[in-house]
Amino acid sequence: MPWRGAPQALAHRILEESGYLDLFCLRPRLDLPSLLRRFGLEWHRREFDRLSGALVRLDDGSYHVFTNSRDSWTRQRFTAGHELAHYLMHRHLGTILCCRRNADRGIERAANVFARELLMPEEVVRFLWDRGYYAPETIGRILGVSAQAAAIRLEEVMLGQSQIDWN
Ligand SMILES: [Zn+2]
Repeated sequence: MPWRGAPQALAHRILEESGYLDLFCLRPRLDLPSLLRRFGLEWHRREFDRLSGALVRLDDGSYHVFTNSRDSWTRQRFTAGHELAHYLMHRHLGTILCCRRNADRGIERAANVFARELLMPEEVVRFLWDRGYYAPETIGRILGVSAQAAAIRLEEVMLGQSQIDWN
């Protein structure tokens, strides 16, 4: 059955079940290839002109994640997390889900929210911040995401904090 709750909650549950939330102090960068394997997903890197990635179901019932090998490895990690979201939430919608960068359909947004939470959980961003890692470049390097993605997430997490403090 596809997941019907919020994508953040799903990402968090998966991190918890995989043991990541107990171990991130020792190993903050999520082992995404292992996580995909837990769900039986094979990760392939291929050159695409327009696609950032895709989720494909073959006739034998196996599912495959594709990312664009022309993208940076951090971008491909984000895309793979995005495709995992499609697998968990949207695989009933078709045998091939093609993803373009900056697509703004509802399921694309939900998959991006999931990927952001999966690769940069709030408690991990805070953990790093509390230990003096403030630069998005550094946080990006530690977590295996782009500096840009880390900057957006930092702002999100820290702005949430300041709003709580103001009230
Ligand atoms: Zn997508």
